[in-house]
Amino acid sequence: MAEHGQHILALQQCGTGTVTATIIDGTAIAAKVRAEVAAGTVVYSAQRGSRPGLATVLVGENPASQTYVAAKQKACAEVGIQSFGHHLKAEATEAEVLALVQRLNADAAVHGILVQLPLPDHINEERILNAVSIEKDVDGFHPVNIGRLGMKGREPLFVPCTPDGSMRLLQEYGATFAGAHAVVLGRSNIVGLPAAMLLLKRDATLTVCHSRTKDLPAVCRQADILIAAVGRTEMVKGDWVKPGAYVIDVGINRKPDPTRKSGYRLVGDVDYDEVREVAGFITPVPGGVGPMTIAQLLSNTLRGANASAPAG
Ligand code: NDP
Repeated sequence: MAEHGQHILALQQCGTGTVTATIIDGTAIAAKVRAEVAAGTVVYSAQRGSRPGLATVLVGENPASQTYVAAKQKACAEVGIQSFGHHLKAEATEAEVLALVQRLNADAAVHGILVQLPLPDHINEERILNAVSIEKDVDGFHPVNIGRLGMKGREPLFVPCTPDGSMRLLQEYGATFAGAHAVVLGRSNIVGLPAAMLLLKRDATLTVCHSRTKDLPAVCRQADILIAAVGRTEMVKGDWVKPGAYVIDVGINRKPDPTRKSGYRLVGDVDYDEVREVAGFITPVPGGVGPMTIAQLLSNTLRGANASAPAG
């Protein structure tokens, strides 16, 4: 795939006109990650006589959260990870959620704890996430793990799944990080900020953009690697992109589409049809970053299990 990148670059240097980007197949890479995890759980189980375990904590009846948790539990089952589902009522108090997290921290069968966000308004999200043991923080949201991600010479135990999955996609398709100019659109704790810190750790030269950034198109045009995580339908246009660039579209947005039964279709933060005519590599939506998020969660859970002290 790296050779393909060189080929595209050569074409552009010859000035042969429009290049159609290579599509980064997130579904295929996610399947590869899941297969790696499945193989790893077989080894783990043979050595330890038990399976890696992921606990999910769901509070309330948010339908989207219920769907996500169910998808994560199903994915666990497919790779041999045991899942422990905990569903608390919407009225559960913060103290009850904290007590559950502490119980899971102490449970040797649990190697990862996933608190499904958002939590109901009366529960302080920060206090709950801070209570998760950093050894079981498979979402990578604990401030100690985030802090280590941002510091030179420190390594987090876990990295947030969506940005880590984005990095894996770039790596699988031959991106060179050292010295590349990476532009990240968005600075959220979940995606933009950790993606930026990961790129910096890999020696990219970094620009982080947000809602106050001036002349976004000009900044984006400098990017060898562009990661878009803004939640704005098809915001990144073809003339925002440097020819041959790697474009990772994290956004998931609903675009009205009367031809669909649902009345909408999912699109990213990147205008796919325009940008694929300019970029060297691009992730589609759906089928790009999305599938990587759960795959990385499984991978993190296995890592947590392997790092845990053997029972005995
Ligand atoms: P947030 O809303 O938390 O953050 C959005 C960021 O984009 C903010 O930093 C904001 O700037 C910036 N922003 C918003 N509008 C603009 C604009 N017009 N110009 C420049 N910057 C802008 O979103 P998330 O990071 O949680 O999610 C981003 C997208 O990724 C969403 O579409 C979400 O659905 C998707 N997502 C996909 C996942 C996956 O698995 N594929 C997982 C998680 C999220 P400021 O900080 O100044 O407000």
